[in-house]
Amino acid sequence: MTAANLLDFDLDGLGAYCEQLGEKRFRATQLFQWIHQRGVTDFAAMHDLAKSLRGKLAEVATVQPMEVVSEQVSADGTIKWLFDVGGGNAIETVFIPEDDRATLCVSSQAGCAMGCSFCSTGRQGFSRNLSTGEIVGQLWHAEHALRRRGVASSSAGERVISNVVMMGMGEPLQNYSALLPALRVMLDDHGYGLSRRRVTVSTSGMVRMIERLREDCPVALAVSLHAPTDALRDELVPLNRKHPLDQLLRACRRYLERAPRDFITFEYCMLDAVNDSLDHARQLVALVRDEPATRIACKFNLIPFNPFPQSGLSGSPRERVLAFADVLREAGIVTTVRKTRGDDIAAACGQLAGEVQDRTRARDRLARRSMPIQILPLVAGARAGTAASAGQEKTT
Ligand code: SAH
Ligand code: SF4
Repeated sequence: MTAANLLDFDLDGLGAYCEQLGEKRFRATQLFQWIHQRGVTDFAAMHDLAKSLRGKLAEVATVQPMEVVSEQVSADGTIKWLFDVGGGNAIETVFIPEDDRATLCVSSQAGCAMGCSFCSTGRQGFSRNLSTGEIVGQLWHAEHALRRRGVASSSAGERVISNVVMMGMGEPLQNYSALLPALRVMLDDHGYGLSRRRVTVSTSGMVRMIERLREDCPVALAVSLHAPTDALRDELVPLNRKHPLDQLLRACRRYLERAPRDFITFEYCMLDAVNDSLDHARQLVALVRDEPATRIACKFNLIPFNPFPQSGLSGSPRERVLAFADVLREAGIVTTVRKTRGDDIAAACGQLAGEVQDRTRARDRLARRSMPIQILPLVAGARAGTAASAGQEKTT
């Protein structure tokens, strides 16, 4: 029998596991604290647990973190870890320190099956879902490795990491059964004690799963929008063909019913001559503010496109990003332009490549789609095709 990896359990699951071993459920709380709050993997060191339990655990269980393949530190303090998840797959996790917070960007899958045209993870195809232990293990490793190094705590008191964003490799809502217990470990006061608003799930728009998350664990929700119309979004985010914008925005509105003081963060990757005209910005305003059926409490986060080889796409020039932001702001929508961090170590959004054995042949399917993508001039002012020559702007 293979040993159970205790990183795979949320507190409830660990309680049930302790019961199976013939132990009182409350023992799980102590065990959970040893693992997540103190970062201890050796049962023998958990001295307030009965010796008999420690012995039993050593026989049937482990606390087995993933193997670190590499760690790269950027000039701006960003750290990127590559973890081996077996079978020739590696996933990436990024630590982003800022003045008032320290965010960990966590992966949910080895690769991604969604095939968004501007994303390097999507281009690699999909290998497999991560387990709960592999999702939580990224936070476990980062938090305890940084603490051991004496990295100053963020505003979160004892803890180094104050925020988690599920924005690494993969579509988190496509791996819901592993994601949910992982979120619970992050929120649990006996685990990492992060508040609901400091944990963000980012999705390309899995409508039914947004509904489930709302019921089960309504953490902060970010939605990768990238286009104001179905025709354009169908090209950039293929999932839109299944769940078009009005379905997606309705699901977002319903999500906020469970979290009334919250808002949805719409991510919008700025692609030169693809989705970045002022008309596109005005269409977004119409979509999220003027249209009664889809009006929604939201913020926009404009992401400068991070290039990767053979994307065939370029980022919008800085002036256009700022002009686009102005249209949204003038309409009263809070809009930020994301700073690109960890550029020198390819740790920015959409650059996380890891190493993935593509089991879905997504790479082939994408290669067959004509690249660079041809966007028809859907609205006045939009330019057809992509401007490969335009300069790449970065906001470091
Ligand atoms: N699959 C989820 C979460 C991971 S991607 C999602 O799509 O939301 C995290 C964010 O990075 C998404 O908003 C995604 O659209 C964005 N992104 C992907 N590729 C990018 C690139 N090359 N440049 C900038 N942002 C990118
Ligand atoms: Fe997957 Fe998100 Fe990349 Fe799309 S943007 S391919 S959903 S990781």
